[in-house]
Amino acid sequence: MKKEYAVIGLGRFGGSICKELSKEGLEVLAIDLDEDKVNEYKEIASHAVIADSTDETVLRELGIRNIDHVIVAIGDNIQASLLTTVILEELGIKKITVKAQNDYHEKILSKIGADHVIHPERDMGKRIAHNIMSNNILDYIELSDDHSVVEVKAGNKMSGRSLVDLDIRAQYGCNVVAIKRDKDVIVSPMATEMIQEGDILIVIGADKDISRFEKNLV
Ligand code: ADP
Repeated sequence: MKKEYAVIGLGRFGGSICKELSKEGLEVLAIDLDEDKVNEYKEIASHAVIADSTDETVLRELGIRNIDHVIVAIGDNIQASLLTTVILEELGIKKITVKAQNDYHEKILSKIGADHVIHPERDMGKRIAHNIMSNNILDYIELSDDHSVVEVKAGNKMSGRSLVDLDIRAQYGCNVVAIKRDKDVIVSPMATEMIQEGDILIVIGADKDISRFEKNLV
């Protein structure tokens, strides 16, 4: 059976999730308090309804219990976001993803049963900061407080040398998990793979190790 999604709060963030899921042909129930917002999504989502998600009866009537994954994208109203999350948790929703506004909000959300808490402004800020710090860091994804995945552009220090020659794993404790070269992606490259200038390496490791790798080789 096809998975069903619900997006609560159709601001910039929730709206964009709703559009993207719908574009992929997935079933999305779009919910917002605001009539104009809901009208905007009538043609986009499978269903768009005006509702207050802090009202448990309304959520039950909408059949929210049959939804596999609910995304709570209520912006500034932290109280409504928390209450909605608690209700969804009590109704037994299998997967709840919630957008946090700040660190306190994030902490409470995790405690009350959100399966996945996202903090898009903060995370995007970090990614952009890493991109600003080095022209060769193209992207950065935080895996935990001290581990990340980075996308780095190979310069002339690495060019013409193989992974075994660079000895990245032993010297820096990082792993090159893939290499993007033009349109190709070489997943789990062999140790003998020669790096070319302009290759994009996807590197995973502890932040301190990645940072040493960047300083010495990028
Ligand atoms: P963003 O920062 O992603 O643009 P906004 O704060 O602009 O977020 O949007 C949040 C949306 O959530 C608004 O459209 C608002 O009407 C909706 N919303 C707020 N509270 C509720 C609620 N209790 N039930 C349903 N929708 C809500």
